[in-house]
Amino acid sequence: MSSRREFLEKLTVSAVSLPILYSPASVLAACDGQPYKGPVLRVAIMGLGSYGNRVARGMESCKRAKLVGVISGTPSKVIDWRKKYDIPEKNCYNYKNFDQVKNNPDIDAVYVITPNGLHCEQAIRVAKAGKHVICEKPMAINAEEGERMVKACKAAGVKLLVGYRMHFEPKTVEVIRMRKAGEFGKTKFFQGQSGFVIGDPTQWRLNPKLSGGGAMMDIGVYSINGSRYMLGEEPIWVTAQEVKTDSVKFKEGIDETITFQMGFPSGAIASCLSTYAMNNLDRFFLNGEKGFAEMQPSTGYGPIEGRTHKGKLTQPHITHQTLQMDGMAQLIFEGVQPIAPVDGEEGLKDLKIIDAIFLAAKTGKKVEL
Ligand code: NDP
Repeated sequence: MSSRREFLEKLTVSAVSLPILYSPASVLAACDGQPYKGPVLRVAIMGLGSYGNRVARGMESCKRAKLVGVISGTPSKVIDWRKKYDIPEKNCYNYKNFDQVKNNPDIDAVYVITPNGLHCEQAIRVAKAGKHVICEKPMAINAEEGERMVKACKAAGVKLLVGYRMHFEPKTVEVIRMRKAGEFGKTKFFQGQSGFVIGDPTQWRLNPKLSGGGAMMDIGVYSINGSRYMLGEEPIWVTAQEVKTDSVKFKEGIDETITFQMGFPSGAIASCLSTYAMNNLDRFFLNGEKGFAEMQPSTGYGPIEGRTHKGKLTQPHITHQTLQMDGMAQLIFEGVQPIAPVDGEEGLKDLKIIDAIFLAAKTGKKVEL
């Protein structure tokens, strides 16, 4: 930001359209370095990989959430993280002993950032230890697992939240606000394109046991989730077509490219592409009777770029993981809901759609939801 005045002007513009999470008062309090006096969500990260590192960096700017612990299978990473984030030894666990987190009053929540195929079992163990669960997307590898996670967290009386960072992202929030306010008129069509060329063939993302699928689990889920928050409806049917050009890299159980279509109760339709074989695909388009929204990039780490029939989206870029973790702390402590939900039921809805897309691609038939 080039000057404080410019920053404040941008905040004033965006504040008109943003929900309580981004009220100027709370953002300005953070900018002015005024001490935050409310409760702080004390989080342990499980899985110190690429995204775990990004979340930890983002949390350094949070005022409502703080990284206080780690769960890892790699002792050398634990040593690094302890130094970097000033984490006490008593807050460090491995995959064998992390059930003991139940005896640790200094940890409120565990953020599961491991390969998809491990989320279900790990999240259920965290719930049984009495801690809130934040779980990365996809929440699990199928709806059956997702249902078990929702049930376990309910039984344990803890929250289950999914790392849907876009639900806190200011430009995305503005488009959802406009849709809710009727500014696009009746929304009729959504197009989502999500993909990149995946590298190293030995990585867990290409191992069906750990990933639960290929591009769909990893990146296609953004188009699925996006279709739901952009249109504001739940799909009632899906059709899907799979294309595989490299059956060595993309073995059985790993989708390379899937195009899929969804129908919604209002008559709206969505047309989406999920792929591990093409770059430059991070684009959402929403069309309504009175206007449109176009975002590209739409779900990357940002800045998100976009415009609507009313002009360019100008909301400020703030690190997604910072907003998400502050927003989740606010949700847990104050019940403040983001503009689109981030709870286990929301994660489960996406998993049911993924199951249906896989079935539709396999059978070539329209699958009702
Ligand atoms: P990485 O491979 O970079 O990290 C995963 C970490 O999980 C590892 O470093 C390791 O940490 C731990 N782990 C535990 N068991 C295994 C195992 N059997 N094989 C491999 N790693 C294991 O993956 P990412 O961080 O990219 O992805 C992790 C999760 O985060 C996925 O669910 C992914 O979909 C999600 N994600 C979400 C993003 C978002 O924008 N919301 C972006 C990127 C990923 P340790 O050594 O500490 O045990």
